Amino acid sequence: MIDLKGYEIWFVTGSQHLYGPKTLEQVAEHSREIAAALGASKHMPVKMVFKPVLTTPDAIRELCLEANSSRNCIGLIAWMHTFSPAKMWIAGLTLLKKPFAHLHTQYNREIPWGEIDMDFMNLNQAAHGDREFGFIGSRLRIERKVVVGHWQDDSTQAELGVWARAASAWTDWQGAKIARFGDNMRDVAVTEGDKVEAQIQLGYSVYGYGVGDLVKYVNQASDADVDKLVKTYIDEYEVVGDLKPGGAKHASLRDGARIEIGLRNFLTAGSFKAFTTTFEDLHGLNQLPGLAVQRLMRDGYGFGAEGDWKTSALVRAMKVMNHGMSGGVSFMEDYTYHMHAQGDKVLGAHMLEICETISTGKPKLEIHPLGIGGKADPVRLVFDAQTGPAIGASIIHMGGRFRMVANVVDVVPTDAPLPKLPVARALWIPRPNLKVAGAAWIYAGGAHHTSFSYSVTAEHLQDFADMAGIEFLVIDENTRVQEFREKLRWNDLYYHLNKGL
Ligand code: MN
Repeated sequence: MIDLKGYEIWFVTGSQHLYGPKTLEQVAEHSREIAAALGASKHMPVKMVFKPVLTTPDAIRELCLEANSSRNCIGLIAWMHTFSPAKMWIAGLTLLKKPFAHLHTQYNREIPWGEIDMDFMNLNQAAHGDREFGFIGSRLRIERKVVVGHWQDDSTQAELGVWARAASAWTDWQGAKIARFGDNMRDVAVTEGDKVEAQIQLGYSVYGYGVGDLVKYVNQASDADVDKLVKTYIDEYEVVGDLKPGGAKHASLRDGARIEIGLRNFLTAGSFKAFTTTFEDLHGLNQLPGLAVQRLMRDGYGFGAEGDWKTSALVRAMKVMNHGMSGGVSFMEDYTYHMHAQGDKVLGAHMLEICETISTGKPKLEIHPLGIGGKADPVRLVFDAQTGPAIGASIIHMGGRFRMVANVVDVVPTDAPLPKLPVARALWIPRPNLKVAGAAWIYAGGAHHTSFSYSVTAEHLQDFADMAGIEFLVIDENTRVQEFREKLRWNDLYYHLNKGL
């Protein structure tokens, strides 16, 4: 259900008429070559479209309007091979609603020491052409990503690829629908927030449903479809004996399948991209959806538990950013600590709903009681998460604005097997350590729920937060608590004042 194939980035080059047609032809030729190279880069997840060189304010304005109305265009990459007086860009950039990145590169990599003359310098003058363009971006206070480096360099292409992934997720959010079954879990604070503000600032909208609306779909699941899905479960997972056909609890697996079919049909019928549940609102459902949620997340749906629509939306966004990359993305919760002289660790899990894309092996399909919620025992996938660097991110509503907090972590093997833990889990060491990361996270007000990923990085999230115009705070190996607290205070001031800037 995630497909970036229709998305395009437009490669835009600015210049002016002063150079004459011959130079402009050369500029166009070079730009075409750069656009093609960026489009062919392994880092670029979407199509790159070359646009004719812009030399007048009207052409720039028209291009920006065209970008705004294009369904496929997810953003612009702008580059000034030559000088493009930036007053020409004011009308266009003021109207532009799509993300843009400023590529500060030069067609020619090195100075040809023995050959260089004024013609060469007048053609290869991004060194000052891009500064003129940069000034107007800053003067207009437009958020954009500035990428510096030769266009053939891997690092330059990688940075643009990261930005393109963020732009894909940003585009995906615009007009996205999130289904919220039940409301917020009673007294929980961080999962609440201003849904109207989210729609205005972030582009997605949250639709509330009674659980009965879902139950109707669950009850409509046919026995034939349930049979088929149970067979899929047996093919894809290590199913415990009790749940297999003829097993004492096989009926619970069929209930689980029925819930998956109903939930999937509900989400498909309403074109939803993400959803939330809460175990306090389950009237008419036999068990809390666990397996169903895990499998829907695997297929690209965002998810948040306990009515957490912000995390649900973020899981979806990070799944879009992650599309085609090797690591998975899951809903996650900081669950319990291992406080030890050799270093503190965090055990992340949830009551059930961890996505199998982060599993290290074939998940086990099991059934266990749930000590909370008062429903029948739910079926769920149990597994250990992959090890390696990862990131957990959270969006919270501070009252008047949104803040994103992320912590870079290292997922490690568990110290010993966990034979009695009946849920999927990940064990990690937060960077720089729990003492600093925990304090910084709590000072920032980060949620207990996160979207957790192995391929999405702080750079993706920074680009994404910039597109959304929200605060981004990363906790990593460089974080120091006192500086971080100062940043929080400065940012409060900045985001208050910038409404008037
Ligand atoms: Mn939770």
